[in-house]
Amino acid sequence: MLVIGGGPGGYVAALRARSLGMQVTLVEKENLGGVCLNHGCIPTKTLVHHCEGVSWMKRAVDHGILREGPLVDFAALMADKTRVVRAMVENLRDLVMRNRVRFVQGIASVQEPGVVTVDSGETLQARHIVVATGSREWTPRLSGAELPGVLGTRDILELTKLPEHLTIVGGGMIGQEFASIFASLGSRVTILEALDRILVGVDLDLAKRYLAGLSAKGIECRTGVMVHEIVKSGDGLRVIYVKSNQEKTLETNLVLMATGRRPHLGDSGVDRLGIRMENGAVAVDEFLRTSIDGIWAIGDVLGRQMLAHVASYHGELVAENIAGHQKPVHDDVVPSCAYTAPQIAWVGLTEEAARAAGRAFRTSMFPLSGNGKAFSIDQPTGWMKLVEDSDTGRLIGAHMMGPYVSELLGEVTLALRKGMSAADIVDTIHPHPTISEALREAAAGLLGGSIHAAGRVRTFGPR
Ligand code: FAD
Repeated sequence: MLVIGGGPGGYVAALRARSLGMQVTLVEKENLGGVCLNHGCIPTKTLVHHCEGVSWMKRAVDHGILREGPLVDFAALMADKTRVVRAMVENLRDLVMRNRVRFVQGIASVQEPGVVTVDSGETLQARHIVVATGSREWTPRLSGAELPGVLGTRDILELTKLPEHLTIVGGGMIGQEFASIFASLGSRVTILEALDRILVGVDLDLAKRYLAGLSAKGIECRTGVMVHEIVKSGDGLRVIYVKSNQEKTLETNLVLMATGRRPHLGDSGVDRLGIRMENGAVAVDEFLRTSIDGIWAIGDVLGRQMLAHVASYHGELVAENIAGHQKPVHDDVVPSCAYTAPQIAWVGLTEEAARAAGRAFRTSMFPLSGNGKAFSIDQPTGWMKLVEDSDTGRLIGAHMMGPYVSELLGEVTLALRKGMSAADIVDTIHPHPTISEALREAAAGLLGGSIHAAGRVRTFGPR
């Protein structure tokens, strides 16, 4: 098997294939680990972790534990993030070598099914080729997008000086994560979002509550605005945008374009072979086979949920299917996290999606103000919201906002995947004091009684 792309899709496919006894070659043009390890999940979450430390120190001053707030050395913080990434890339290289995956550095290009050339001049042959070339940043056509100081998510991770004022175009998950990071370090942050809401995909109840808390953190969010030009202005930039048919301007030091990602074939050449594409993404069947015999595709290049854990799941599955296991993809229950402050984590249907699908359902919402752990760590702002199908009694959605909620997501994802009910969660003793107790309280609400606060239960009929 030959894998093109060493991101969380490709390298996991290679390792799983080795454990199944195949001979494997992995070709990567940059560092192993892909966007996730080098320019995405890991560097951002390292920064998020340090920023939580900074926020803790600020709160410690309020509580009289520290006399002074932290003085952050931004360049040192960014260097530390790079150290973490480099160490993990090294570990991954080691893991790949120890598992006797043949690693080739270079740009791979498929000449015909079974034959791949690398820009170093080498020609490789494989019975099965896995395309795991990922995605790339997408920005709308915008005059001034090429100016120095207008950055993508990859560039902003290389900054060495903290901007005084950062403007972020795009109020989705990635834009909001960067807003939280820079605001907690002391930048003034303005988010410009085209839609009339932020965090598309997040339950609207939670997204609204999150939005309401932003200004207290030094983040201003302007929704329903269309950015149409960026021009140089003195040492900084001027962003020109339209809101309610009126042209407005905003002076800023730096602009981050957080406007999304698109699948990317990355010179792999499979488009020249006439592979079937759908909406700019590689089309695959339920076993991850493309339209060309012997060529498979996984991860972001499929343009589905562009998340590292989805890519890795595909990676394991494709190796198993190449080995003949015939396992169909089940990526209908996919957990998502926004590592904002506070975190937002969710899986399954939102209230809006359940309503749009015409389902009969109930929701239960429990506030973290009724949770001992949230109080003891001084972060009592957050909610647990569960969505239950009224006909089957099964949980169909879970939406959480608060500290550590990304760590709770495995529990509710398992519950949804296995068709469990609120009673299954309530019948399970949860440890004290933890945020997980609030999840159990939200489930108890659906059964008629949360204990530590008045949760809110609402019933919706079919359309
Ligand atoms: P990629 O990681 O994009 O890897 C593809 C690899 O293929 C690249 O290394 C590329 O160099 C290589 N390649 C391409 N063409 C060729 C070629 N012709 N020859 C050789 N090599 C080639 N996801 C999460 O789940 N959690 C998060 O917290 C999270 N945070 C993110 C934060 C940011 C700022 C960004 C940008 C993304 C984040 N993501 C997160 C998304 C996550 O990074 C991607 O979903 C994931 O990396 C996709 O994995 P992949 O293997 O499909 O592709």
